[in-house]
Amino acid sequence: MTTPVSPDSTTWDQQEPPLTMFGPDFPFAYDDYLAHPAGLGQVPGAAYGTEVAVVGGGLAGMVAAYELMKLGLKPVVYESDQIGGRMRSVPFDGYPGVVAEMGAMRFPPSSTALFHYLDLVGLETEPFPNPLAEVTPSTVIDLKGTSHYAQSLEDLPPIFAEVADAWQRSLEQYAELVPLQRAIRKRDVAEIKRIWNDLVVRLDDQSFWGFLAASEHFRSFTRREVFGQVGFGTGGWDTDYPNSILEILRVVVTAADDHHRGIVGGAQQLPLGLWNRIAPAAHWPQGTSVAGLNGGAPHPRVTELRRSEAGTVVHDSYGGVHTYPAVVVTAQSWMLLSSIHCDDDLFPIDHWTAIERTHYMGSTKVFVLVDRPFWKDKDPVTGRDVVSMTLTDRMSRGTYLLDQGDDRPGLICLSYTWSDDSLKLLALTPAERMNIVLRSLEGIYPGVDFRSHVIGHPVTLSWEAERDFMGAFKANLPGHYRYQERLFGHFVQKDLAARHRGIFLAGDDISWTAGWAEGAVQTALNAVWGVVHHLGGASASENPGPGDVFDEISPLRLDD
Ligand SMILES: Cc1cc2nc3c(=O)[nH]c(=O)nc-3n(C[C@H](O)[C@H](O)[C@H](O)COP(=O)(O)OP(=O)(O)OC[C@H]3O[C@@H](n4cnc5c(N)ncnc54)[C@H](O)[C@@H]3O)c2cc1C
Repeated sequence: MTTPVSPDSTTWDQQEPPLTMFGPDFPFAYDDYLAHPAGLGQVPGAAYGTEVAVVGGGLAGMVAAYELMKLGLKPVVYESDQIGGRMRSVPFDGYPGVVAEMGAMRFPPSSTALFHYLDLVGLETEPFPNPLAEVTPSTVIDLKGTSHYAQSLEDLPPIFAEVADAWQRSLEQYAELVPLQRAIRKRDVAEIKRIWNDLVVRLDDQSFWGFLAASEHFRSFTRREVFGQVGFGTGGWDTDYPNSILEILRVVVTAADDHHRGIVGGAQQLPLGLWNRIAPAAHWPQGTSVAGLNGGAPHPRVTELRRSEAGTVVHDSYGGVHTYPAVVVTAQSWMLLSSIHCDDDLFPIDHWTAIERTHYMGSTKVFVLVDRPFWKDKDPVTGRDVVSMTLTDRMSRGTYLLDQGDDRPGLICLSYTWSDDSLKLLALTPAERMNIVLRSLEGIYPGVDFRSHVIGHPVTLSWEAERDFMGAFKANLPGHYRYQERLFGHFVQKDLAARHRGIFLAGDDISWTAGWAEGAVQTALNAVWGVVHHLGGASASENPGPGDVFDEISPLRLDD
């Protein structure tokens, strides 16, 4: 929930700089790097126009392609489905402008590199109606058959405040929350490294659940259970309990779960905007865009990646075979094990191990359109909203009410689930999914006739069932830090054998913050740096890139 556990709220001096997704593993200021007038560097004139394959047209692919174009290179984009990837906004027939966000839907302002591109493309954002957020008229927490209606934390029974307090205290006592956030605000790299590296050593083997169970503030099983069901920031986090606590701490310390904003008109506009954007670029004539360089449409699905003396050979599903001196792969990395046949020699064996050990969370969403935002009607007896943003331990788990205006149909994300909760819906048809989650809601709101308001068919998706994704987003398990460190640092290739160079991994599953678009942007910028240097280019001396300072601020390397 947003209000109770905004973790720094008790200690934040409003005069201090804001929290951003600056580190903590790799504290590089991607936002300053992007804003610098010197740009992201240059390639030698002889390299202008060189084709660079970009596998995947999601956000990472589009950021990489856009920046490569600006540097005078020719990004050749391969996309098996549609530009956008997991920023997928599905329209409803007959209702222009209304979209269901099947993937990313709420973005923390601390994602400053992401917001750089949102501003560039000219997209507007608006507060997202999370549980107990200011823009959320009311929230219902329904656990074990009992519902609590609230407009603020104070309206809830004391157990919820106790749980919020227990979480805050645990973070302060066992995870150095206050000094770490202070260091992130000040961008004090040495202090961030001192605190975070120690946490990595101490906590890499610890799960989220184990962290809570070991905290004196969560000795009560009930507190752990309630916390799992209503969680922090955006809702229930118990499906994350098996994951590494480091994954959770990254979210909390960088405020990734706070003050969320939605993108007006849909998140997919961002990758599409970068694809279509005309921008001044080295080498290319005025009016050049990534779309234009690709003849208006991406190349098809990549089926094979092979090695040759001349570079990386890309095979596509239409039989195209093309060799590139550099390739950026942004598809989820499991694709390299399954749908893309790869030469073993593409990566050192330890990197293959890291790809094999990658762990993804599943996720299912179920949306319906309703005739009007009827949830704002008032109950004549209680005066309350007839339906509220709802967190529950029933099948629907999280229900979000997305107001499109009083005179327009309303959009309801009936259910947003992760992992086991998503699996419970996976095998069901869209109608079955809708019926099951509506049954949950009818149990919470007896007397509200949801079904009479539904128009059209439900829109639903389980990312783990999509062949080009096989999961919603990565979530490292305990003991996975070493794997992540290998994948993240792969773009700095000076220590790799020549036969392993020239292929660059990007995407949120390569980043430290999978499940957040900021990680897709940051790793795309790493890959661009890698390509530029691979082709003999360099960063501007006044604007060193992530690879230039890598050795100084590199993520901690754990020994055996
Ligand atoms: C359910 C869900 C909720 C999320 N919520 C949020 C949120 O609220 N806030 C937030 O910041 N982030 C959120 N995210 C994460 C965000 O969506 C991702 O970080 C971001 O979209 C990832 O972009 P990417 O380019 O790394 O990967 P992708 O978007 O996965 O792009 C990879 C692309 O590669 C393509 N591809 C796959 N195989 C091939 C092939 N063989 N050949 C060619 N192309 C191929 C795919 O079709 C895809 O388009 C969410 C994600 C999901 C799934």
